[in-house]
Amino acid sequence: MAVHFHEEDLPAGVLAPGAIAIDTETMGLVTPRDRLCVVQVSDGQGDEHLVRFGVNSRYDAPNLKAVLADPARVKIYHFARFDLAAIEYYLGVVAAPVFCTKIASKLTRTYTDRHGLKNLVQELLGEDISKQQQSSDWGAPELSEAQRDYAASDVRFLHRLVAVFEERLAREGRRGIAQACFDFLPTRARLDIAGWAEQDIFTHD
Ligand code: MN
Repeated sequence: MAVHFHEEDLPAGVLAPGAIAIDTETMGLVTPRDRLCVVQVSDGQGDEHLVRFGVNSRYDAPNLKAVLADPARVKIYHFARFDLAAIEYYLGVVAAPVFCTKIASKLTRTYTDRHGLKNLVQELLGEDISKQQQSSDWGAPELSEAQRDYAASDVRFLHRLVAVFEERLAREGRRGIAQACFDFLPTRARLDIAGWAEQDIFTHD
C-alpha cells in the first residue's frame, strides 16, 4: 500500500477496473476563484494516486479525464457536489456516475447530524483519520508529507464506506431515492457554478 504522486496527469493503466474513489483539494471553496490543485484517486486496492496541478496548469490531463468520464466506472465521493463542480470547471468533464457517501449518510444515519468523513470512518469502520491538513496551502510548490498523507486518506476508506451504506440503504428501503440524488448531483454542481449556490430553487419563495 503506497501513495503515488504525479504531476499534471495520471499515468495510463495504473488503476484496477471498477469503481474509483475521488477527492479534490483546491485553493478554497469558491470554485471559479479557487483553482483545483490536487485530484486524488483510489481503485480500492490499497494504493492512492495524487495528481497535482501547478499554478499555470492547462489541466490537459487525458488519462485522468478518460477515467473520470468513463461511464463504466462509478465515482465515489464524500460530498460529491463540491468535487463535481471543481472537476467540471477545471477539467471540463462530468465525473459521473456518482456515489456520494455524505448523501448516503444523511439518508441512513438519521440518528445523528454528524456526517463528516472523519465521523463516518470512525463510527462505521473503526478507523481514525486526521483532518488537520484540510485548510492548508494546496497551491504550494512542494506538498508536505503531512499534506500527501491527508490527501490520500480522504480517498482511502470510500470503497469500504460504500459497502456499509449499500447495506444500510437496502435495509431502510432508500436505495432508489439515494440513486436519484446521486444522478442529480452533476446538475446540483452546475447550479453552484452558474450562480445558484446559496439559493434552493425548490422552495416556494
Ligand atoms: Mn479532501
